[in-house]
Amino acid sequence: MSETVRYTYRLRPGRAAEAALLAEWGRCRWLWNEAVHQQKTGRKPTFGKLSKLLTETRARNAWLRSGSQVAQQQTLRTYAAALDHSFKIKGRGRPKKKRKKDALPSLEYTTRGFSVKDGRLRLPNKVTVPVVWSRELPSEPTSVRVYRDNVGHWYASFVVRRGTTEAPEAGLAGIGVDWGVKTTATTTDPAFDLPHLGHRRRCAAELAKAQRKMVRRRRPKGQPQSKGYQQAKRQAARIAKKAARQNTHDARVWAKSITDHHALIAVEDFKPKFLARTTMARKAADAAIGVCKKELIERGTRAGRKVVLVPPAYTTMTCSGCGERANLRLGLGVRTFECAACGYTADRDLNAARTILATAERHRASADDVRHLIASFRGGGSGAVRAGNPGPAREGKPPGLIHGDR
Ligand SMILES: [Zn+2]
Repeated sequence: MSETVRYTYRLRPGRAAEAALLAEWGRCRWLWNEAVHQQKTGRKPTFGKLSKLLTETRARNAWLRSGSQVAQQQTLRTYAAALDHSFKIKGRGRPKKKRKKDALPSLEYTTRGFSVKDGRLRLPNKVTVPVVWSRELPSEPTSVRVYRDNVGHWYASFVVRRGTTEAPEAGLAGIGVDWGVKTTATTTDPAFDLPHLGHRRRCAAELAKAQRKMVRRRRPKGQPQSKGYQQAKRQAARIAKKAARQNTHDARVWAKSITDHHALIAVEDFKPKFLARTTMARKAADAAIGVCKKELIERGTRAGRKVVLVPPAYTTMTCSGCGERANLRLGLGVRTFECAACGYTADRDLNAARTILATAERHRASADDVRHLIASFRGGGSGAVRAGNPGPAREGKPPGLIHGDR
């Protein structure tokens, strides 16, 4: 068994290489905008038509001819795919023009256009870029995307085949995961709890300072922004990126330990968009939860574990001892759950985690309960399954929809 994945590495282009990459991007951007122009005249430009047009234009235009044909073709291929995609989804906007001042450079090459030799990425027109090989490529790459982020760093993202490694036998049966603000993840086994990932919060003061600097240096609308402003903007982006990277790292380590030890992973299906009015701390917590949830689902399903998403409604008000659901939701300040029916008491989050696990286990026992598989969880099929609501099957109205019930 093997799978197609992306491996991304930092690039350290020299001055000449960076100028060449930007010039290449300039040509590709021009082509993209030409394609958008075509689309505005009413004809739907397919890749076939655009490709033919490219051949004709390159014959006439020396500037275009000086660039890589592979990169230019890939730009049009990406464009055609984006246009196709926009027609499939209702209400989706068509591809837009890429403006020089805010579009981030991105170039794609197939095997005809690049190679890796002596640790360097070799691109057309004798452009070679040193790669920071943070880990080994698992196979010969079939394509590469070279791009620059908003901080100004360059990356190469290779498409490779990787053999799926068998995860170790899961020792423990199942685990339930409840998300929260103070503790990012409370689980049925305290050894696997994840305390709040405070990287964003720690960076918040630093970020606020950079943002104030941006505001101070901002010129009125319509005027080009100063170098000092751009500098402050990059600094703010750099701080935010660093925090996000640290969150991702911690989430990966945590998700791995959960996956290695459990056969069934029951996850609260938390959706951050419910919390519209939020404070900085809340936003930071939401971001951490989002990363952890994504990593856990991806890792769990990849390792062949059963991952069940449990809707967050009722999880805090259902007794994990007897399964009885209370009629009132627990206030956010109440930290202990007390069951009126059987007298069971437990920490609020621990009870929620146990309820989540119990719901998933019940759901696994009755196949009828399967509502639907999540077809794509970003980049391919994921095996996560959604469960029904916790608590006993009841008739009549549920006691109100719960928002941000954590
Ligand atoms: Zn009870």
